[in-house]
Amino acid sequence: MNIKILFENEEYSVDLSDLETVEDLKAIIFSLTFLEPSSQNLVVMGKILQDEEKINSLHLIQNQRVLLVDNEKNKKNNREQKIELVTTNTISNQNQNKREQQMNNNKTTIKTKTNTQNNTETQKSLINKEIGIVENQNPQEQKRMLSRITSYLEHVRQYESQTLQNKILTILPLEELLIGGEEQNEEETPPEYSQAKRIMGWFKKKFFKWTKSPECNFCSGATKLVGYGQPTFDERKYGAGKVECYCCSLCNQITRFPRYNSVEKLVDTKCGRCGEWANTFCGIMRAMGYDTRYILDMTDHVWVEVWIESLNRWIHFDCCENISDRPFTYEQGWKKKLTYVFAFSTEEVVDVTARYTKNIELVIKRRTEKHKISEPWLQKQLQLINNKLQNTLTQERRKIVKQRQTEELKQLNFQYKNRNNFFEEQRPRISGFEN
Ligand SMILES: [Zn+2]
Repeated sequence: MNIKILFENEEYSVDLSDLETVEDLKAIIFSLTFLEPSSQNLVVMGKILQDEEKINSLHLIQNQRVLLVDNEKNKKNNREQKIELVTTNTISNQNQNKREQQMNNNKTTIKTKTNTQNNTETQKSLINKEIGIVENQNPQEQKRMLSRITSYLEHVRQYESQTLQNKILTILPLEELLIGGEEQNEEETPPEYSQAKRIMGWFKKKFFKWTKSPECNFCSGATKLVGYGQPTFDERKYGAGKVECYCCSLCNQITRFPRYNSVEKLVDTKCGRCGEWANTFCGIMRAMGYDTRYILDMTDHVWVEVWIESLNRWIHFDCCENISDRPFTYEQGWKKKLTYVFAFSTEEVVDVTARYTKNIELVIKRRTEKHKISEPWLQKQLQLINNKLQNTLTQERRKIVKQRQTEELKQLNFQYKNRNNFFEEQRPRISGFEN
């Protein structure tokens, strides 16, 4: 049994056997229409369906109308188009209307597109259609995605702490970082960008250490990972969720290596892997007054973006590698198959994937196939989150953030795709492989 969802002159067909509960159906309706699940009342023959009800226990019959009553309708939501739901037979019959036929034709073309014409424009529009629809969306993945985004938004709040920023400023060798910039007289590099690079160079060469395995706490001997432990109360206080345990090859004692999340602690321990590096560097840049975003690449890397006002753009900074403005490094040099790259600050979360790939269409196709998350749904979620975050800003600040967003969107759409990559971007990863 399928259910046909009609909305804004579009018709989407969803296979009900792919869904378990009414809540799953609501998630699908949301992804197509952006009507929040909490605002959806689904009614079958006068009965309101409960979220936890199993779809197959509803005993839906063919051509059954499922009424959707929009809770929000009389409030701010001036939705013009009604959403209609009708169950249909899975096997299409002769009597279906023209629209449905077209829709099915499209579906067949998508599935067998390698056998049909090789016109790239057609393929592109087919891919886009595929993305827009995403028939078997995965509500679990959607939930997981939202909770990851929320936890990173929580994570970046620490950088705004005045206590932390003050502590960082007492640690930094300010004279060295602010003044000693004569040596690298690069052409047309704005001073605030040169200074940011200088801070990164100091961070990489003099401040932070890469920890493959820690030195033994007792005899400074070499250690080997033997397992994982629970964080102590103190370790948890500084955000350690996981503790790696290392055994010394000389004295056999165990050295704990808590993976701290708190920059306040990390500026004391001064060591870790790319997570600790990017995290601490982000805190340092904030303390130095730069608008900074924490960047999460969901295929397992993190770095930072810094706003350079005179260039009117966000610039990629990877402190592990000591490189900046080399966004194709991961795809071209490290040969990563990117999926989602998000930028986080307390003011916004932005899908910045397009900055880091030369073929965003391919990446979107890859991630949609892998995660079964609809793109319109995701973009809408980000928009909702951003509205919420930016509501707390002053009017003046909100205006600046919005202007930057508009400018960034233009850049992501046009500039990056057409940029040639630099020689350095072909370089494989160095962090973790040095010495
Ligand atoms: Zn030892």
